[in-house]
Amino acid sequence: MTKVKVATDWLAGCAGCHMSLLDIDERIVKLSGLVEFTSSPITDLKHPPKEGVTVGILEGAICNTHNIEVAKQMRERCDILIAVGDCATFGGVPAMRNLVGTDAALKRAYLDTETVVDGLIPDSPELGKPLEMVVGVDKVVKVDLFIPGCPPRADAFFYALTELLAGRTPVVLPPELFTYD
Ligand code: SF4
Repeated sequence: MTKVKVATDWLAGCAGCHMSLLDIDERIVKLSGLVEFTSSPITDLKHPPKEGVTVGILEGAICNTHNIEVAKQMRERCDILIAVGDCATFGGVPAMRNLVGTDAALKRAYLDTETVVDGLIPDSPELGKPLEMVVGVDKVVKVDLFIPGCPPRADAFFYALTELLAGRTPVVLPPELFTYD
């Protein structure tokens, strides 16, 4: 039996959504006969998804130019893209910097914090250029399903995956699976 390829990747976030996915716990055994994780919360930092993925699970907000590249790459490589967590849905915690502006937030974090001595604002090309506004994933690529929450419950991940494996793409989660923060 051909397994459905599922892949995870992340943008700007705290990895809490990845941890919640792992909280599926023993139900992962039920899925393991049907699903092949080509990248997972344990591996995707160093081994991002490759082509031919059926279901992509993307955590985190769009904060910089590197996040845009990763989101576009994920969209190209996945038939169905799920944005998980409040960060991916509307910007979440990283979008708090929108209230003060990017320059002011960087200055506060890297130059003006009491514990910083001779601080520098990071400027490596690998980090990407910070955007003026932090936004959700759908501002950059088409998203097929949102699983909001900070983090979403493991039950929500399990529901979405089992629905997709049954050939159904849920439009919204059942109310009892929503996490209200
Ligand atoms: Fe972390 Fe919450 Fe953002 Fe998920 S939604 S990456 S748990 S801050």
